[in-house]
Amino acid sequence: MRSLHDLPKGHLHLHLELGMRPSMLAGLAARSGVPTPRTTGFTEFGGFGEVIGGILPLFRERADFERLVDEVVEDAANDGVVYLEPSFWPYPYLEIFGSAEAAWETVIARGEEAGARHGVTVRWMAAVDRVLDTPEQAVDVAKTAVRFRDAGVVGLGLHNDENGYPPEPFVDAFRYAKDNGLLSTPHAGELDGPASVRGAIDVLGADRLQHGVRSIEDPALVEVLAERGTVLDVCPTSNLQLSVVPSLAEHPLPALLAAGVRCSINADDPLVFGPNCLQEYELCRAELGLTDEQLAECARSSIIGGAAPADVRERALAGIDAWLASPAS
Ligand SMILES: [Zn+2]
Repeated sequence: MRSLHDLPKGHLHLHLELGMRPSMLAGLAARSGVPTPRTTGFTEFGGFGEVIGGILPLFRERADFERLVDEVVEDAANDGVVYLEPSFWPYPYLEIFGSAEAAWETVIARGEEAGARHGVTVRWMAAVDRVLDTPEQAVDVAKTAVRFRDAGVVGLGLHNDENGYPPEPFVDAFRYAKDNGLLSTPHAGELDGPASVRGAIDVLGADRLQHGVRSIEDPALVEVLAERGTVLDVCPTSNLQLSVVPSLAEHPLPALLAAGVRCSINADDPLVFGPNCLQEYELCRAELGLTDEQLAECARSSIIGGAAPADVRERALAGIDAWLASPAS
């Protein structure tokens, strides 16, 4: 078997804070004199939200984010990730940083430093919170993201509960982002079905979809995604733990690939879901039966779908071809 560590990968669906190591979480809790918050014990998005709500308030200082970015980038390198595109919503941390701009400056600078140290190219996805941001605030989020375009923000995402919060009201923010050279990378087709995916591609002009797996419920939509070459940033363990799929064996990733849809493989929130990016690839091999050809194709999509500079992209794609051409031992 070929080592999946050695397969060059892009990691395109990772929420920065939930890429935290358990050891850092324990340290943050100890500093605040509270027990380490639980990271498990949920089966759906509501319970997941409660778990996250116990974790995020433990961030207190700029240095916390510097350590977080350092460790997230080092972990990516250890997974054989060559291109990392974490998402970040800085607004809960304005008291720490003083402004969203200052928060972005901190994580971007640290990502560049750590990336240079570990051989990982780091770019960023800004995010709109579909529950907490009004459409007007979303436009401000997009404007801030565009101001950091040349520094390394490459996309605009849309997070939080899809149910009751469809993509369409955020059209102005995403139009501004796309007009100014950012990728449109909303969450859709995870908690809500094909209608959310249609809204994301038709109205928000999605270049990629975070998740998108429930597109499988609508064969005509699957055809559209295959034709457009839209990349789905798929997170199998996340889908299992939030009951988006009843079992890994029933995960639609193999069917989506068979239908010609481009898919990348990702960890989403490894602190709470468990597996890191490499382990998700290993799960896809062991549990979903993906062949090395299919795993290499997912890795290609993870490079093509991201916004890596041309030289990084070419090197990664050549590395994927070389991986597949190497003998399987
Ligand atoms: Zn996500």
